[in-house]
Amino acid sequence: MTVSTAADWREGLDAGDLSSEALVRASFDRMRRLDGRLHAILAMDEDRSLQLARRADARLRAGERSPVLGLPIVFKDNLHWSGLQVSCGSRILAGYQAPYDATVVERLLAAGAVPVAKANLDEFAMGSSGEYSAFGSTRNPWDTDRVPGGSSSGSVVAVSAGYAPLALGSDTGGSVRLPASFCNVTALRPTYGVLSRYGLTAMASSLDQVGPIAATAADIALTLGAMAGRDPRDSTSVDLPGMDRLAPLRPGNLRGLRIGLPVEYFGDGLEPGVRDLLDAALQVFAAQGAEIREVSLPHTRYAIDTYYLLCTSEVSSNLSRFDGVRFGHRAAAGSLPEMIAETRDQGLGMEVKRRILLGAFCLSRGYYDAFYLKALKARTLIAEDFRRAFESVDILATPVSPGIAFPFGAKTDDPLAMYLADAFTVTAPLAGIPCLSMPAGFTAGLPAGIQLIGPAFSDVMLLETAHAFQSLTRHHLETPSLSA
Ligand code: GLN
Repeated sequence: MTVSTAADWREGLDAGDLSSEALVRASFDRMRRLDGRLHAILAMDEDRSLQLARRADARLRAGERSPVLGLPIVFKDNLHWSGLQVSCGSRILAGYQAPYDATVVERLLAAGAVPVAKANLDEFAMGSSGEYSAFGSTRNPWDTDRVPGGSSSGSVVAVSAGYAPLALGSDTGGSVRLPASFCNVTALRPTYGVLSRYGLTAMASSLDQVGPIAATAADIALTLGAMAGRDPRDSTSVDLPGMDRLAPLRPGNLRGLRIGLPVEYFGDGLEPGVRDLLDAALQVFAAQGAEIREVSLPHTRYAIDTYYLLCTSEVSSNLSRFDGVRFGHRAAAGSLPEMIAETRDQGLGMEVKRRILLGAFCLSRGYYDAFYLKALKARTLIAEDFRRAFESVDILATPVSPGIAFPFGAKTDDPLAMYLADAFTVTAPLAGIPCLSMPAGFTAGLPAGIQLIGPAFSDVMLLETAHAFQSLTRHHLETPSLSA
């Protein structure tokens, strides 16, 4: 079967052949039918979604036209949509109701998108497999014995399994791109600042970005246009150049496009099957006149260490707010310090605790200079590598992950092995630059993606380049059979 894209639905809605209500009903039918097996969804409110769909239909009948009007969308459960839970996949926030809308949610609602569900995730977005949710693992629709990738596991599976054409995840070090690669969908991590973080539960604030997920780059462009731009409630937010080129997105011109292959990303750790898919994808670019050359990003080998030092440091600070005092779970215990300790012990999972401990250690006196400060310096060197590379190429192409989706339990006993799945996705976030993952084909029956990385604010160019690739290939149209 091939996928129905948001762009297809868009045409149907605008022509009056489809209604938003019918699309939203179909979303709920599909979730009811499949989610017992896939476990991508944590919460939904069908009546509310149907009401929003009927409102979108009224706007359509009144002649309004806009890119996301009437389209179903799923939100990762660390994004605030008021009235529904925002659990962050953690027991400490089980059942906690969002008191307000995230800016990206508010903007999508204003543009007429129809949220249909909150999606499962690794606890507080920490993880690479979808196995660290306190509410159970999400399964990969291509092989339900394998992980979907994380941490935006549920959002990606929602698109891959056809629950909704659009979803939002968050990406701190790869969390939309890695699962996109494992589940054959497209996902963008925008330039840091392009999407407001207001209402996205903070994990590592200097790295967190909201990331749109869809079957195609053209569909991602629909959502990005509705969400991007400066938000006074997030001082790091900025306007996105080239917004006017997003809808409709046109395929980029590949002739003369200088594509760099960072040699450090093509070493021994890369599975041969994935390597073959990348070579085939690069031939598609080359056949259209792109110039492909090797480049070097020499500090890549420090990226995992740098990322995990900075990320855990910020995590230890950001998550101190979950203390049982203001929101979420509160343990019944004697004194205030006992209550806080007990609440955190009961409410937080293993991986989250590990990061809080590591981060608190990095930031403590005597270790701050050796770890945190050193990591900040390494971060600058990594960003410098990219800046230098973009003096001679327009875009970089790399694997998304060294391998394909792995079986459940394969890495849960070995945190370092889990962290290494992120070797190719943590680098661009450290530099704040945009990157995307898109389907490159199948090896051993499972999908793998190719990552494109561009200079800061080249988001639209990245999407145009991906769109050109997707106009020439069909990998992104393949959907899992999900029978039996
Ligand atoms: N897998 C990475 C981590 O565990 C990235 C997570 C993310 O991007 N939210 O930190």
